[in-house]
Amino acid sequence: MVRTEADRCPGVLAVHEAADGGLARVRVPGGVLSVEQLDVLRRAASELGDGQLELTSRGNVQVRALTADGPRELSERLYDAGLLPSITHERVRNILASPLSGLDGQSRYDVLPLVSAVDAGLCARPRLAELPGRFLFALDDGRGDLSGVQADVLVRAIDECEAFLSLGGGLGARVSWADVADVMVATAAAFLDERQGQEWRVAELEDGENRILDRIGLRATEDLPAATMTIEAGWHGESALVVTVPLGSLGQEQAAAIADVADEIRITPWRSLVLRVETDPSERLERVGLVTKPDSPWNGVTACAGQPGCAKALADVRADARRVTPRLPQHGRPMHWSGCERRCGKPSGEFVDVLALGNGYSIDGERTGLR
Ligand code: SF4
Repeated sequence: MVRTEADRCPGVLAVHEAADGGLARVRVPGGVLSVEQLDVLRRAASELGDGQLELTSRGNVQVRALTADGPRELSERLYDAGLLPSITHERVRNILASPLSGLDGQSRYDVLPLVSAVDAGLCARPRLAELPGRFLFALDDGRGDLSGVQADVLVRAIDECEAFLSLGGGLGARVSWADVADVMVATAAAFLDERQGQEWRVAELEDGENRILDRIGLRATEDLPAATMTIEAGWHGESALVVTVPLGSLGQEQAAAIADVADEIRITPWRSLVLRVETDPSERLERVGLVTKPDSPWNGVTACAGQPGCAKALADVRADARRVTPRLPQHGRPMHWSGCERRCGKPSGEFVDVLALGNGYSIDGERTGLR
């Protein structure tokens, strides 16, 4: 029998007890929220938590500082809003999709409709509820924007007929679009079959890609072609506006403004939002502290929870980052603020490392006068 450590990845029903109260993570497949769903989340954060909606690097949303009765009430509200369609599988619905897919004319293939098919396939198989809560599926529309998300099962469009399936970021095989959803679900089942106990990700399995592909009857033919692409704040096409949410923390006024102006909301893995809009809402959004232009100092800046949410934190990094970031020189790299050396939530690749020391901060290892 396979023995595993308990999976401590939080969900809505398995809330993490943080220093400031319960923390619930709401899975949002494809990052897609309707205006009504955003409003349900906003009200829940206000009435049951600390009022903020935290965006995660997997396009999910966290509500924190929940009171003792908060989780039950939250789960009922989310169920009614269609945000908790499966009790058993809620933590395994980690599915990213290129956030601009189908919106800006740059997609080789619009992958968004496949999100529902993968989600339904996952939830229909009872055994897949055993997947680790950090196991990640990603659907890239061909532009290469999801190369850096470290997905366990990544599909990237080649053209309108075929996609490239990559496991653990490495070797993979070509798959026709008609088979993609079934293959992704079968891959997850094969991961469970191959898992010996403590592996949480495909990359942790020895020769995992080949063993999993063997099980599902595919053969690795090539490596994932290199691709890098970031999506900046601003207009992409005529109806998609990318909005940076400073530090990935969406306040009440900001969420209400978005619900007023957008027809649809997509959460990106860079803790920003893609809004489908009919008229230009930039002025309204900038007034409440959101960023709609690519030259803002807030683009690419992230922070861990820090105080008061994390007992290990040496500082209230978010409050300090809010105060200091606009005054810091631009480095041309993402910047991450951490309350301790664990550096939770740091970006992949190179970044400016702002670290709390208890009596100030270092930047890239050099003590500074920042306080
Ligand atoms: S980096 Fe440290 S302070 Fe920040 S959330 Fe992680 S453990 Fe807490």
